[in-house]
Amino acid sequence: MKKAFFDSEGVLAVFTNRHGGVSKKPFDSLNLAFHVEDDFQDVLRNRKMLLDGLRIEKIAWMNQIHSDVIKVIDNEGEVIGCDAIITKRKKLALVTMVADCNPILIVDGMKKVIAAVHAGREGTFKRIVQKTIQKMKDEFGCKEQDLLVSIGPSIGPCCYEVNKSNIDKVYENFDGKYIVNGKFLDLKTLNFDQLVEAGVSEERIEVLDECTCCNKDYFSYRRDGKTGRFAGIIMLK
Ligand SMILES: [Zn+2]
Repeated sequence: MKKAFFDSEGVLAVFTNRHGGVSKKPFDSLNLAFHVEDDFQDVLRNRKMLLDGLRIEKIAWMNQIHSDVIKVIDNEGEVIGCDAIITKRKKLALVTMVADCNPILIVDGMKKVIAAVHAGREGTFKRIVQKTIQKMKDEFGCKEQDLLVSIGPSIGPCCYEVNKSNIDKVYENFDGKYIVNGKFLDLKTLNFDQLVEAGVSEERIEVLDECTCCNKDYFSYRRDGKTGRFAGIIMLK
């Protein structure tokens, strides 16, 4: 488990890894996702252990679809069909589940609003993190200069080879600098730059440098195919 730099007395913000759960191969061991064909009871036990350890009583899990759909929520449970959730509710934890995609946690410590974002390639191309910030501004009057953001462990440009159509998309819609050595996508920097473009200052953004594909402490879809999911979790205490 790794804490985001803004984890504090007022806000819980952590990223899990693959260790400490009960799931068997290839989901060993702290898999938190039901949709990957792991044993249902094992996932339930993993979730319960995690929530008990973090003293979380209410939690919202997204059913993620690689979209730019963002929902403002007030209640626990499964949130269908979206890739970012925002809340102002205290003691309601928000989760984003990943295995290579960017898990992004955002807090506005002034307005006391949080967000959890699942930014894979598709969501990043659709600028989901910028749209999440816009929604925080529209719905709660958040100011970009008050935001703190952490981009958690995710696949790096060392491993994330993409095909020609995706390379073309990056050149057309963003900048060639995000394609490393001709064929590797730097997804974290693309999200970092979207945050800066949205008005968040660089020193308020953390990018955790672990590559999930290089580092076997994490689940990696690119490395293992059938595998589990780890999580970014944020909650106003
Ligand atoms: Zn790597």
